[in-house]
Amino acid sequence: MTHDAYVIVIGAGISGLATANLLRDAGHKVLVLEARDQPGGRVRSVRDGERGGYLGDLGPTWMWPDVQPIIVSWLSRLELDVVEQFDTGHAVLEYEENSVPVTNHIPGQLGTVRVHGGTQAIIDGLAGALPDGVIQSNAPVTSVVVDAQGVKIITRSDTVREFTATRLVVAVPPRLAVSAIDWQPTLSTSLRAALGSMPTWMAPHAKVVAIYDTPFWRERGLSGRIASRVGPIVEAHDHSGAGGADAALWGFLGWPHDMRAEYNGVLKDQIEAQLARCFGADAPTPTAIHIMDWATDPFVAVPDDLTGPMSHPTVGPNVLREPHFDERVYFAGAETAVQSPGLIEGAFAAAEHAAASISKAAGVRFAIDPAP
Ligand SMILES: Cc1cc2nc3c(=O)[nH]c(=O)nc-3n(C[C@H](O)[C@H](O)[C@H](O)COP(=O)(O)OP(=O)(O)OC[C@H]3O[C@@H](n4cnc5c(N)ncnc54)[C@H](O)[C@@H]3O)c2cc1C
Repeated sequence: MTHDAYVIVIGAGISGLATANLLRDAGHKVLVLEARDQPGGRVRSVRDGERGGYLGDLGPTWMWPDVQPIIVSWLSRLELDVVEQFDTGHAVLEYEENSVPVTNHIPGQLGTVRVHGGTQAIIDGLAGALPDGVIQSNAPVTSVVVDAQGVKIITRSDTVREFTATRLVVAVPPRLAVSAIDWQPTLSTSLRAALGSMPTWMAPHAKVVAIYDTPFWRERGLSGRIASRVGPIVEAHDHSGAGGADAALWGFLGWPHDMRAEYNGVLKDQIEAQLARCFGADAPTPTAIHIMDWATDPFVAVPDDLTGPMSHPTVGPNVLREPHFDERVYFAGAETAVQSPGLIEGAFAAAEHAAASISKAAGVRFAIDPAP
């Protein structure tokens, strides 16, 4: 059987793209199949429509280089700089409905940074390092068939396409690997249980980025932080560029997904009203408000994700990191990692683990196809 690639990777998020880069470094021919029309997965940055510049992250934004060495090495490889999270001044605290918000100091998280140019710059760097044609967009994988000849992968959108490979890396959120893909032969009971038990980190959440002309809160001695028991924003932070350029705030919407859906038509008004409550009626209004509700994204959330958990994921069982089907199928994705599962650090760690496992197995048992 002629294979389209030595390794096919499902999913062009950080983990799938990093896996593809590492496998190509090792000389393997790789294809990445991505369900959406563009790479990035949970990474999504708002860009200025006119100037193309970065305005804010609707997906991940924070990293902690002091305790995340894998991210540090990838940022260095991609030649990306970081900016420190601005947290100088008091926060605005909103305790209950119809109460006047108060300002006070609340402790911040030391060592929190963001990527200069937005988290999207990581995706641009990873995707840009792959030759044209390696990432196949609009290719949602619906079936995988494994046999002695290799792996057959079927995608279904407007058309049905079939790809073949020697090995497969599944770099989609673990629950989607079970619920969205039909496996032949079926996955083992322990693997199905492990994949199903890993909630997709942040899937129940919605994020807002509010754009301003200036970071006016800084001039008022405020950090831009909001902590609210009223909402819709429960937690907000300064999201401006270096030196206060491209002023913005980002926040998590604390209302559960069904309430967000119910208030969808008026959510922006509610957010604007809350920002006016917290910063005062004389505060400038945002020039734009961008909302991303990840609970509604079929390539992130499954129904089980909608009710939480809200705490950081724990390390999943070893079966997630082991090869399957006679070393033909591997899993990556942030949730499968030992280091910082669910986070960007985890996405890179899982990529490194999957790529190293494949290279080890390939070196022992298979010849390596040269990269094109
Ligand atoms: C709102 C929010 C805030 C976050 N904040 C932070 C933060 O501050 N710091 C941090 O470290 N992490 C944060 N995270 C987590 C971070 O986004 C993830 O750890 C990381 O992006 C996961 O990358 P991944 O490649 O493992 O998965 P994903 O980004 O989910 O990528 C999986 C890819 O697979 C594709 N796919 C899915 N199903 C299929 C299919 N059947 N066929 C083909 N393709 C498919 C998807 O479209 C997607 O592109 C946040 C996440 C969210 C949503």
